[in-house]
Amino acid sequence: MTEPTLFELSSPGRTGMTFPEPDVPRFDLPEAGLLRDDLPLPELAEVDVVRHYMALSRYNYSVDGGFYPLGSCTMKYNPKINEDTCRLPGFLFTHPLQPIETVQGNLMLMYQLQEWLKEISGFAAVTLQPAAGAHGEFTGVLMMRAYHKARGDSKRVKMLVPDSAHGTNPASAGMLGMTVKVIPSDARGNVDLQALKAECDDTVVGLMLTNPNTLGLFDENLEEVIRLVRECGGLMYGDGANLNALLGIVRPGDLGFDVMHFNLHKTFSVPHGGGGPGSGPVGVSERLADFLPAPQVAILEPAIGDTPPLYGFVTPKHSIGRMKAFHGHFGGGLVRAYTYIAMHGAEGLKDVSQYAVLNANYLAARLRGTYKIPYDRICMHEFVMEGRVEGSDVRALDISKRLMDYNFHPPTNYFPLIVHEALMIEPTETENKDTLDRFADALLAIAEEARTNPEVVKNAPHNTPFGRMDEVKAARELVLCCWLPEGYESSR
Ligand SMILES: *Cc1c(COP(=O)(O)O)cnc(C)c1O
Repeated sequence: MTEPTLFELSSPGRTGMTFPEPDVPRFDLPEAGLLRDDLPLPELAEVDVVRHYMALSRYNYSVDGGFYPLGSCTMKYNPKINEDTCRLPGFLFTHPLQPIETVQGNLMLMYQLQEWLKEISGFAAVTLQPAAGAHGEFTGVLMMRAYHKARGDSKRVKMLVPDSAHGTNPASAGMLGMTVKVIPSDARGNVDLQALKAECDDTVVGLMLTNPNTLGLFDENLEEVIRLVRECGGLMYGDGANLNALLGIVRPGDLGFDVMHFNLHKTFSVPHGGGGPGSGPVGVSERLADFLPAPQVAILEPAIGDTPPLYGFVTPKHSIGRMKAFHGHFGGGLVRAYTYIAMHGAEGLKDVSQYAVLNANYLAARLRGTYKIPYDRICMHEFVMEGRVEGSDVRALDISKRLMDYNFHPPTNYFPLIVHEALMIEPTETENKDTLDRFADALLAIAEEARTNPEVVKNAPHNTPFGRMDEVKAARELVLCCWLPEGYESSR
């Protein structure tokens, strides 16, 4: 650490607060044996604490600070109006255990958000409970299992997952005790139909498909893939993490998916990556609607004349039960996503996806002469290139580290696994052409450095507060507490 800790800055007697004289009788402290005075708390003035945390915050890279092309993560700019709405007193100072009559506005917002997500995705019903995408997957796969079970179809234990899938997909199925079968991709980056056919039998729970996939490609045989899975009695799970490419253009529910999670913290501008809690609502087709988690926000009594409807909670007939305490991440997730959708409207959301796709294709066009794009066709909102340069031995990791010197966040590294030295780049719609050009220029300059002065790339970063970390050592010898007062054991 180059920054001193609060303990090191501490000076006896300094204080950040003064208490007023009490207006209640003084009370004696418990007997000395119950107190300890050896706890070394730092003593500082308020200004010292503020400056300390401000200094630490400057070590962070953020989407408010610069371009953040972290593929598959959709690090779009988070509009500041979201912060205003989620802090409105009616949202901020309510409690989930209040009687429903006193929180009708909150319930109306949740109901409306469910309706909007249904319209955007083409699904019959939506739950807002799951805390993130992975939690949504787990919820969705639970419903798939419940569906098969309810039909007395008990031999289905096999979940099909393409090799380009995010690691959470096999993890979600694995956590439910299912056997995961990996389906390879074909030469164009689609699901390999022959391999899929070979696995389709009456033990298939379903297929978990990300579309567009993590190569940023729309599966060209999607109808055939869905037909094959249907034919053997399986269900289609859609990983909605890449929905940012599809808004207002195509609806996963119409395509034939049975269930899909939304990542409100990706597509719908809820801050993430240390910025706040995620939110992973799940949409389902008609045949899974009865299995949704409970409680579900619904209209209990319809509007009559001037009397507004009464919103409340219902339990779906064959509900898998509760997936999350209370009602999901209400203020941090749902209110922000609601604001984002309301601000954009249908046309605006379509623009979002069209600009996201345009930006990704523009960057790919500027880089493809210098970097290899192995599955090279028109991409959706992201693309994957090889982090290698002809005539140099620099690797994807080196290129990413060097990008930090140019003040850009690195792209996603080494994912998806099917691309050698993968660099997955997702610009999002919120970046303008100047930014995209500066980023492309930086990557082209790094390619030139890799050929003429490779050491400067291999030893990067040079301009950041810290140099290259020993990531293996950090993982193997985890130290959770960097400073310990004398006499305290390390937590190692
Ligand atoms: C982000 C992501 C997930 C997991 O979502 P979380 O919200 O991070 O849990 C799953 N699949 C894909 C393709 C993703 O990009």
